[in-house]
Amino acid sequence: MTIFDKIINKEIPAQIVFEDEKCLAFRDINPQAPVHVLLIPKRPIPTMNDVQPSDAELMGYLMVKAPEIAKQLGVAEKGYRLVINTNAHAGQTVSHIHIHIIGGRALSWPPG
Ligand code: AMP
Repeated sequence: MTIFDKIINKEIPAQIVFEDEKCLAFRDINPQAPVHVLLIPKRPIPTMNDVQPSDAELMGYLMVKAPEIAKQLGVAEKGYRLVINTNAHAGQTVSHIHIHIIGGRALSWPPG
């Protein structure tokens, strides 16, 4: 059980921008850009290393939803970044897969 399960269960508040039966998208509490949303599966997969072949449909679903949400948030045309941090070296702090949707300003590359 992570803090994201509590957001899914509406036990703690979040600024939800999209929800359906499979996934939830909400604004990051510590935004790194004008638009910073986290898209999560409702099924609690801890990290990308835990993704199984049986998760292929769900993971593909998230990849379809991410650009739809980027369009909804008005960043699709100018551009945005999708990030999935995995484990310590990438700075993953919540053990529930989340896709960062980051945009609204020019982003530097490569990441630090
Ligand atoms: P990561 O470092 O990739 O694991 O990202 C975790 C993200 O979750 C960070 O960007 C946090 O700011 C964000 N976060 C943590 N708690 C909350 C919360 N209660 N509501 C919204 N975002 C959160």
